[in-house]
Amino acid sequence: MTRQRCLILMADTGGGHRAAARAIHEGLDLAFPDRFEVIVSDPLAAAVWPIGGFGRGYGPLVQHLPELYGAAWHRSDGMRAAAALHAALRPGLDPVLRRLYAEARPDLVLSVHPMLTRRAQRVLRAGGSLAPFAVVVTDLFDAHAMWFEPEAELCALPTEGAAALARRRGMPADRLRVLGQPIRPCFAAAAPDQTALRANLGLDPLRATVLLTGGGDGLGRMPALARGIAHCGLPLQLVVIAGRNRGLVDRLSREPWPSGVSVEVRGFVDNMVDWMHAADLIVTKAGPGTIMEALAAGLPILLHGYLPGQEEGNLRYLIEHDLGDYAERPEAIAARVAHWLAPEQAAALLAWRRRALSAARPAAALDIATALAGLLEPTSKLGG
Ligand code: UDP
Repeated sequence: MTRQRCLILMADTGGGHRAAARAIHEGLDLAFPDRFEVIVSDPLAAAVWPIGGFGRGYGPLVQHLPELYGAAWHRSDGMRAAAALHAALRPGLDPVLRRLYAEARPDLVLSVHPMLTRRAQRVLRAGGSLAPFAVVVTDLFDAHAMWFEPEAELCALPTEGAAALARRRGMPADRLRVLGQPIRPCFAAAAPDQTALRANLGLDPLRATVLLTGGGDGLGRMPALARGIAHCGLPLQLVVIAGRNRGLVDRLSREPWPSGVSVEVRGFVDNMVDWMHAADLIVTKAGPGTIMEALAAGLPILLHGYLPGQEEGNLRYLIEHDLGDYAERPEAIAARVAHWLAPEQAAALLAWRRRALSAARPAAALDIATALAGLLEPTSKLGG
């Protein structure tokens, strides 16, 4: 049987969009074995400067100038400004998309990035393709206006809050589906035995374990946070996952740690699900992917930061639903870690884990896969 070709458009701005693409790819393979050939592509990276430089500039921008990024995000977060931004992308992006579509000849196109919505849809149709075009929004609440493309046949949303925003932005209600944040289907499997898992990962099986992350790029005040947690007074083990931030790995590897505390430093890991299941608590920035993965792993979440604009709503949601705690200064984070891991908090921590699990949507990637496949059914609006 000829496989149907599903092209997923994403960009390496942070780690969340690539992770979402991968989750949907795995969801399609699992729900429909041998039916799809999935192609994941980053058209922004192939575009000429300045669009081509956006992916590379994003990490340093949000790390060093978060207020500037937040101000630009808020100023441009309206349908008119979004339309102007999409128009500005046109000269750089359209030729890349045309080449990509000619090579991939997709039966279905899916975007998991707000900058790859309007032009991606327009270039697809201008080329005469009838392949359905879908958008999977990966911001939990404060989704930027650039996400909302009314011509998309499907707009999958992670939460009811994002769907309400989409309606306010004028999206046709019959295109909207609340299906959850796409996280890898392995998060839906039963949690393994924690003691054995820790041993497999080279950790002490019995020690309280804190996982510190800063998204795909290892963002935030990670060295100060690691130092603070290591010195919080408990005999814990700390796992720092630095993602693509190689400088952070080098820096932390040279750091002297207090005796009685063990610190494991990793760069980009491919098995976040294992590290999350091995941990008792995660300290992270408010990235939507990490948050929804941590909830699926039943992890209490302590937030050390958020991106102004797109991640503000994530912080609000976690606090309002008693799913997370937030502190800004590394000393305050360290104090919260010591508080939550103290033996007298065991029952509260367990209740927190249960709340996390009940707020999770671990099979979202499979639900998204089913909705995407539905677009190719003869009964759907466009036909197969
Ligand atoms: N991630 C990973 N390995 C790493 C670091 C991060 O697989 O070493 C994944 C993480 O599990 C999540 C994504 O990268 O799926 C980060 O997405 P998030 O939305 O949390 O933040 P972003 O990096 O986009 O700011």
